[in-house]
Amino acid sequence: MAETKFTPRVFSGIQPSGGLTLGNYLGAMKRFVDMQEAGGFQTIYCMVDMHAITVWQKPSDLTKNTRELCAGFIAAGIDPEKSILFNQSQVPEHAQLGWLFNCVARMGWMGRMTQWKDKAGKNAENASLGLFAYPALMAADILVYHATHVPVGEDQKQHLELTRDIAAKFNHDFGVDFFPIAEPVIEGAATRVMSLKDGTKKMSKSDPADASRINMTDDADAISKKIRKAKTDPDPLPDALAELAARPEARNLVNIYAALAEIDPQAVLDQHQGALFGHFKMALSDLAVAKLAPISAEMARLMQDQAEIDRILGRGAERAREIAAPILAQAYDIVGMVRS
Ligand code: ATP
Ligand code: MG
Repeated sequence: MAETKFTPRVFSGIQPSGGLTLGNYLGAMKRFVDMQEAGGFQTIYCMVDMHAITVWQKPSDLTKNTRELCAGFIAAGIDPEKSILFNQSQVPEHAQLGWLFNCVARMGWMGRMTQWKDKAGKNAENASLGLFAYPALMAADILVYHATHVPVGEDQKQHLELTRDIAAKFNHDFGVDFFPIAEPVIEGAATRVMSLKDGTKKMSKSDPADASRINMTDDADAISKKIRKAKTDPDPLPDALAELAARPEARNLVNIYAALAEIDPQAVLDQHQGALFGHFKMALSDLAVAKLAPISAEMARLMQDQAEIDRILGRGAERAREIAAPILAQAYDIVGMVRS
């Protein structure tokens, strides 16, 4: 079969499931901006509110978090003219293609997803069906745009592989070369920012412990307090990265420093080897405040004009549908659904 040529197109999303964290910023948002600025790609970024409700969200929080996330995207450098910026539920084609993919994906594939196991925990019987099906909707988010590149944090790698499996199975089952096999883009020093309280656990916006994360809306005092109290160990910083292998909390702070300063983790050790954490944490907290304060100030400014945020989301959704609707229609034709 001749290989179909796909337009280079980037899609990625963030859930409005709580305040934006430093992990989301370094692992995802910053990459989104890079790809917007790189040229050569059409960039599409989404507040995935339908994913957020796979676990309980208080309605007023969901509304606020969606608008705040939109403000976060713009404050971090996403230009709603250059990129398409919208919330998922305003583009029904995601859910529609998601249903087709529920019928392509296999139960066994979904059951192997580590995020499902982590989030459903011991109480899987009581988790929502949506939480189990989430990765099929995520595949639809990406493939309804025929996206070719997906910038994400390390934790989403497995879902990206599943997206590729779903695309390949659809293409195979229907004898077409219709969906691209999207490439994950997992880059930088902070593809997996860890909790400040436990270096073996990912920093998450939905973690109940606020001290485990830095929120993009935290002020300078809160940022330095959280960094000061972050879990570490009594040893000084070594001169070689390999020596951090068994020190996850130390490694995490070095990675965060590197990603904020846009240098290699080894370069951080070159500058700070021998330092004790009391000292290194002060340097890290100054750097974090310098990088994050302008973003949080801009977020707060944008949040004052909610009508403008809603207008941006509405316009983004219109532009997204212009791409998604014809792709969904073709998928329906391939499946054999009658469209009158
Ligand atoms: P939740 O706890 O509700 O799942 P989250 O903080 O994991 O929230 P998501 O909306 O699930 O955030 O993920 C948005 C993007 O941020 C994804 O690309 C994900 O890979 C990335 N991301 C999330 N947490 C981290 C982290 N700790 N380090 C790096 N990237 C992250
Ligand atoms: Mg997550």
